[in-house]
Amino acid sequence: MQTEPAVEVAGLVKRYGADVAVDGLDLAISRGTVTAVLGPNGAGKTTTIEICEGYRRPDAGTVRVLGLDPVADAARLRPRIGVMLQSGGIYAGARAVEMLRHTARLYADPLPVEPLVERLGLGSCGRTTYRRLSGGQQQRLALAMAVVGRPELVFLDEPTAGLDPQARRATWELVRELRESGVTVVVTTHHMDEAEQLADEVAIVDHGRVIATGSPEQLCRGGAESSLRFDGPPGLDLAALLKVLPSGAQATEPVPGSYRVEAPMDPRLLATVTAWCAEAGVMPKKLAVQRRSLEDVFLDLTGRDLRS
Ligand code: ATP
Repeated sequence: MQTEPAVEVAGLVKRYGADVAVDGLDLAISRGTVTAVLGPNGAGKTTTIEICEGYRRPDAGTVRVLGLDPVADAARLRPRIGVMLQSGGIYAGARAVEMLRHTARLYADPLPVEPLVERLGLGSCGRTTYRRLSGGQQQRLALAMAVVGRPELVFLDEPTAGLDPQARRATWELVRELRESGVTVVVTTHHMDEAEQLADEVAIVDHGRVIATGSPEQLCRGGAESSLRFDGPPGLDLAALLKVLPSGAQATEPVPGSYRVEAPMDPRLLATVTAWCAEAGVMPKKLAVQRRSLEDVFLDLTGRDLRS
C-alpha cells in the first residue's frame, strides 16, 4: 500500500499538565517527499514529531506512521525509520565513529560507515567522545546516525541549527539524495530559506495546529505576488504614503526602518513610491522589488510578536 501517506496524524492532542502543546493537529505526509514543518517556538512541532517517533504518547487523536502505530507497533516501526532528535539523545561518553558503527550494526542493510563519516566531515572525530565534539559535529553525528540504517522515513528535528554554511550545504545535499532514493523526509526548521530550498511540502504549525499547508510556491502565491521594499529612517508616515498609492495597497514597517509596499507592481507604483520619498526628503536604500518569500508568508500567518 505505497499510496497511503507515510505519516497520517488526525486530531492529535498532547497536554503537559494544564498546557495544551498540541491541540487537534491534522497532518498527512506523502511518501517520497521532503516535508518541512515550520512554526514559532513552542508551536508544538517537536512534540508532534516525537509522538510520530513513538517517544511520547498522545492524549487523543490517531497517528499512523508507515501504516503502523508508533507506540503499539514500535518494534516493527523502529528499524524502518531514522530519527535525529533536537536534543541529541546520544550517550555523552560514547566515541563518535564507534557509536555510528555500533548503530549501523543494528540494521539489516546499513550504509557503509566510512563514506558517510567522510562526507559529513566527521573523519577527524573518530575517537573523540560525543561530549567533546563541537555543537556542529554533534549535529552531524546525529544526522549520520539517523540515516545509516537506510530508513524509509527520516525525522530530522532542526538538523542544521548551529551548523556552519559548509555543513549546512552538506546536510541539504544528503537530504536531496535521500529524497532521490525514495526516502520520505520530515524536517523541522526555523530557516525559511532551508524550507524553500528543500521542501516539496510545507506545514506551518501554530498553537498546536496546522494552520497552512502547500508547496513553497503555493504558499507564496497567496496575497501579493511581489512587494517593494526599501530601508529608510524609522517611523515614516505610512498613512500619508497610502494616500498616494492605489486603493487596496498595503504599506508596512515590519522592522523599524524597513518598509514593505504591497500592491500590483508596475513602473508607475515604483515611481509613486520614490516620488513620495523624494517629497519627504528620504533616500530609499536597498530599494528592491521582491517576490513574496516563505518568511513573509510565515510572518503574515503567525504574526510578528515574539513568543514567550
Ligand atoms: P521550538 O521551535 O522552540 O523547538 P516546538 O514547536 O518544537 O518549539 P514543542 O517543543 O513541541 O514546540 O513545545 C510545545 C509546548 O509544549 C511548549 O509550550 C513547551 O513549553 C511545552 N513542552 C514541551 N515539552 C514539554 C515537557 N516535557 N513538559 C512540559 N511542557 C513541555
